[in-house]
Amino acid sequence: MNRSRSGCCFPVRNYFLLLLLVAPALVSADETAPARDPKQPINEPYTAKIKKYTTAPVFTSPLVDYLPASKNVPTPEAVLGDVSGAPGVLPYAEDVYKYMRLLEKATPRVKVFSIGTTEEGREMIAVAVSSEENLKHLDENRARLARLADPRTIKLDDAEADRLVAQSTPVYYITGTIHSPETGAPTALMELAYRLAVDESPYIREIRDGVITLITPVVEVDGRDRMVDLYRWHLAHPKEFYPPLIYWGKYVAHDNNRDAMGVTLKLTENVLNTYVGWKAQVLHDLHESVPYLYDNTAGDGPFNAWVDPILTDEWEMIGWRNVADMTKFGMPGVFTHGVFDTWSPGYLMFIAAMHNGISRLYETFGNGGADTEERTLDPQDYSRTWWRQNPPFPKTLWSQRDNNNYEQTGLLTSLHFFNENKGLFLKNFYLKSKRSISKPTEEGPAAYILPADDPRLELQTELLQVLQKQHVEISRATSSFTVALPVKKAKKSSKKEDAKDAKEKEKEKDAEPTSREFPAGSFIIRMDQPYSRIADALLDHQYWSPDDPQKTPYDDTGWTFGELFNVKVFRVPDPKVLDAAMERVNEAKPAGGVQGEGAIFAINNNAEPTLATLRYKLRDASMEAAEEPFEASGKKFNRGSLLIRNVARSDFDRAANETGLRAVALSAAPSVKTHPVRAARVAFVHTWLSTQTEGWWRLALDNLKIPYDYISTQTIAKLDDLNAKYDVILFPPVGFNSSSTAIINGTATGWGNPLPWKNTPETPNLVGKNDSTDDMRPGLGWEGVAHLQSFVAKGGVLLTATDTSRFALSIGLADSVSLGTSQKMNIVGSVVSTRLVDAASPVAYGYDEKLSAYCDNGPIFSLSSISGGRGFRRLGGHSTSRATGRGTADDPDFTVGRPGVEAPEEPTAELWEYPPVSDEQKRNGIRVIPPANRARVILRYADNKELLISGLVEGGDEIAQHPAVLDVPAGHGHVILFSINPVYRGETRGTYSLVLNTILNFDSLDAGRKLAEK
Ligand SMILES: [Zn+2]
Repeated sequence: MNRSRSGCCFPVRNYFLLLLLVAPALVSADETAPARDPKQPINEPYTAKIKKYTTAPVFTSPLVDYLPASKNVPTPEAVLGDVSGAPGVLPYAEDVYKYMRLLEKATPRVKVFSIGTTEEGREMIAVAVSSEENLKHLDENRARLARLADPRTIKLDDAEADRLVAQSTPVYYITGTIHSPETGAPTALMELAYRLAVDESPYIREIRDGVITLITPVVEVDGRDRMVDLYRWHLAHPKEFYPPLIYWGKYVAHDNNRDAMGVTLKLTENVLNTYVGWKAQVLHDLHESVPYLYDNTAGDGPFNAWVDPILTDEWEMIGWRNVADMTKFGMPGVFTHGVFDTWSPGYLMFIAAMHNGISRLYETFGNGGADTEERTLDPQDYSRTWWRQNPPFPKTLWSQRDNNNYEQTGLLTSLHFFNENKGLFLKNFYLKSKRSISKPTEEGPAAYILPADDPRLELQTELLQVLQKQHVEISRATSSFTVALPVKKAKKSSKKEDAKDAKEKEKEKDAEPTSREFPAGSFIIRMDQPYSRIADALLDHQYWSPDDPQKTPYDDTGWTFGELFNVKVFRVPDPKVLDAAMERVNEAKPAGGVQGEGAIFAINNNAEPTLATLRYKLRDASMEAAEEPFEASGKKFNRGSLLIRNVARSDFDRAANETGLRAVALSAAPSVKTHPVRAARVAFVHTWLSTQTEGWWRLALDNLKIPYDYISTQTIAKLDDLNAKYDVILFPPVGFNSSSTAIINGTATGWGNPLPWKNTPETPNLVGKNDSTDDMRPGLGWEGVAHLQSFVAKGGVLLTATDTSRFALSIGLADSVSLGTSQKMNIVGSVVSTRLVDAASPVAYGYDEKLSAYCDNGPIFSLSSISGGRGFRRLGGHSTSRATGRGTADDPDFTVGRPGVEAPEEPTAELWEYPPVSDEQKRNGIRVIPPANRARVILRYADNKELLISGLVEGGDEIAQHPAVLDVPAGHGHVILFSINPVYRGETRGTYSLVLNTILNFDSLDAGRKLAEK
């Protein structure tokens, strides 16, 4: 599950930590030994193959080096044609399901449940394995677990909890192959299900009788089928290079394991509902990247601030015990801890961490397929560290079977240890739930409030819907109420500050309100509920100290959802808020509609993304955008508000309802300057290098029902007249492998073989609804560059973000903008503050003066009024400070023997402004860029001291105040450059409209533009 930013050495401070974290001796000496039942016959041929495919005796264990025989239960061989982990064998999801259903038919110890479908319509399943008795009484058991999961139902009565704990069978949920190139889990889980159902050894019987093991053998089903296709292609063309897996699921690749906050993908939703629905205690997610088995659950820190310390103790307890158990078997390379930081709650396993369970994750060693291969490790992977006392070998012959042995041994020892201590873990489950309910009076806050007078009610609904997907309870105030607000402690004034300053501050403090009234209809997220922790983690702010010893954050450091949704959220510590009159809301629904009578419909523009949905939904209606604010029907409308004509009231009613937009019907048009808002023809460009980051953009547009043509850079290279087909070209970030050279050249074609991405007999699932090509290698090429340039010159609009903005600048599409280099900036997936610079630009329609945005070390844009020049700050600086000479600091100097000369005042400019053109530059000023050809600055980054909203901002002065969004005129067209990423992981919905505004106003982007005088 590695993110590209990783790899760091281990600080010494953690020696101490280890001493604190070693698990207490929980288990008595008479614990059952892991050994097979000598009375139960083994399946000899299967066992022989296990031995044959295991490449060294140390890569197996007494738990998996044999397979118990069964007269009536089929082994995985029935479907695979060979044993689990056999070389050359990689089953499709449907084969895995077929086997699980064969098991279900053959034994009352297995039950298969359908848990939903994927974006491409493939089924997801969960397989329960336990004793016949346990499976017969699933519902009664679930009812008991539900009471432990929601201690309000037993009035937080610990004695009653103890009684329930004693009667309950816990649920241990295992999920496989969310990451499609990590291929081992499905076959390991097939065999694990067989063992749990068939093996009569006391060790396995105890697990079967004591625990319900729940298994989703394939999480990313769409990606699994593509990966198996590619592997089959590889088997059919053994001497050739095979295409890399560029698409996993329909939208994203590796980031499918970063969706546990926003819950935008079906796989996340299905696993979350299964986890919560079963009231499971553990979610254990299987990955492959690190040799040989890394319990990647807890690491080096910082740990997520919202998890209960009871959980962090459980991580260490289970993890270290796992290491000990497998080490006792003589298996090398089993370790825990490592450099993972456990900060972001975006990982799939964190569904459990944020819902009072135990999150776990294994990285085992996979070959990305089922070939047996000689593998050579990096020194950092085989070096001995305190947390990896028995490291892997530097060189190994490694097989899929070895991987399956490690996965199964790890899981079986975990299940056994979990069962031995299930009283403790079930009680912890109850305690964590209870502590979540006690939150208002313990650590706080008492609630979060989303006020009814938020101007962005549609986005507010979307945020509430995310919380609802997370199974968070939502209430709505039935009358207005008042809460006390926390008073911010005044910072100690430094001695340098003069008395006047301190007085000013005192005044400000007095002026701050100490209470606030919220209107009826405001939403209240009570923190006295079992799943308060996830709501708190999403809605609160994050702070990652630049001084943190962890220098390589594993993932994003900030995510505050209210900020990124551009929705008002109040954190309320005052427990009295819980006494406000309120009712539970069962479903957060958009509340759009129309007021008044008249044939013209006016919708206020508050930068809500569904405004764009409405444009495409009402294709035949005529729409205009107001270029200035106006008043009508006693209501104030912002710049960019829509005036809509030629649509039947009933059609409009329906559309407004569905989009959650509120409109006012007018009998006459207001007198305000407008321009037409047409449905632009949109091309959406991807590379064949990486599709992950753009996948989030596709998902956003699809959810909003904005149509587009999905084309590759190769198609751009082939289309001579892009303007004939498109008005707007979106070129979202490439992400991995995004250099300009790679975008233009693609993957080297000077050697190797073509890499087809298309459906063939070996690869029937590859394409899905995505793009295809005969050869993934060619890039945009110089033809493509020329086509993009000509598209813009002829009036097209090209929109780029982060790395594609760098690309656009590198091919000379925006002369007046240059890229700065950073020495110390470290903004790692953070929420930062921006400021509106040009409110009259259509790109900015609906936005306020301050806007929070997602930034991940975005490009530093600088402006220059001189063609080919690099931007720099002209603040006068030392040139205006007086030189050494006569007089006091503010006296004029003199020159002996001649009258004094007053120097002209040096012109100055801010970092987001064009440096003024000097008189010297104007002499034969062929390089001076005329004002109309310069970029229009839409948004800039806030001043350094206000830049951080959430996460880590270090060296922020390098990007502070620089432009964040630019509209660069180029020929007759525009290039819109983003330094922030406005569309990301379903989390940044507040900035979507910057992109959508560009699409809606593509042919009027110059509206409201005021040019500099020179
Ligand atoms: Zn992974």
